Amino acid sequence: MINYLYQEQNWQSQLSDLITDPLELLETLQLSPDQLLSGAILASEQFKLRVPRAFVEKMIIGDALDPLLLQVLPHHLELNDHPEFITDPLGEEQANQQPGVLHKYKSRFLLTLTGACAVHCRYCFRRHFPYQENLPKNEDWINIRNYIESQPEVNEVILSGGDPLTLSNRKLKLWLERLESVPQIKFLRIHSRVPIVIPNRVDEELVSLLKNSRLRIILVVHSNHAAELDDFTCAKLATLVQNQITVLNQSVLLNGVNNSAQVLVDLSYRLFEASVMPYYLHVLDKVKGAQHFDLASNEIDEIYKEVLASLPGYLVPKLVREIAGEKNKTPLFGVSTF
Ligand code: SF4
Repeated sequence: MINYLYQEQNWQSQLSDLITDPLELLETLQLSPDQLLSGAILASEQFKLRVPRAFVEKMIIGDALDPLLLQVLPHHLELNDHPEFITDPLGEEQANQQPGVLHKYKSRFLLTLTGACAVHCRYCFRRHFPYQENLPKNEDWINIRNYIESQPEVNEVILSGGDPLTLSNRKLKLWLERLESVPQIKFLRIHSRVPIVIPNRVDEELVSLLKNSRLRIILVVHSNHAAELDDFTCAKLATLVQNQITVLNQSVLLNGVNNSAQVLVDLSYRLFEASVMPYYLHVLDKVKGAQHFDLASNEIDEIYKEVLASLPGYLVPKLVREIAGEKNKTPLFGVSTF
């Protein structure tokens, strides 16, 4: 839309040149500053606006209701209190075994190597997570290794948010080699929104690193709307698949963004064009500040039934909710089940 400069610019410079000022974002999109109702700036101070220019270029100029914009623009309703919306809806602080290690599920655990994300999604369930107290230092590797070896059922490590693909290839390589050195680890899953918001993150070095690992690599990207997947982004995702990396997508069902069966159907087809398989459609986690993205269970039920009726089974993402303390995500098949 604006121009395609970002296709030429390396990902590191894009990551160091994010839009962090809500007024600049509105000006770029030729929207009035009045879009920011009183309170939105305070909301932005509590959870800073961060958005790459490459992602902004996918938004429609002059559209205050653009579904990509709504995911990142601070909203005054974030300041409202609601008893069901809390700072740690998934009880992750209790699952935190040691710095960087979140062990919630039997065969796999989460390793958070950074608290940084390229984009701040306003609905993020980790928006209040105390990353700085939980990041592993170099010398913690030995404890992490000991922890893995004390859990013989663990065969998979998940690098998750903060976003692991904000790390340099050098640092990723270091952690990849560490994990490869533990024989019981067979799979490495990387959860990242960076290939969607800065597609140039998929550079040759990263592809080569992942392709040549002894671990089976599964990259789970996070896209909520087909408008996030322009041809350039799709080509980058397809490159990963062509290099034997499994690429899946997870989405969050969000009021105002993708609460329509047609939007979700279009997203699944667009992902498939990019060789990416739809994986999960998450019901919103009830995190403080994200109340305005929530949907009534009967609306969710109606949307999902229509998605089921419209798509071939292999393109239907599983509708799930994460419940604190449960040993797996809870599948939701109808209004009576949630
Ligand atoms: S990229 Fe992921 S971890 Fe980061 S803010 Fe968005 S949803 Fe949260």
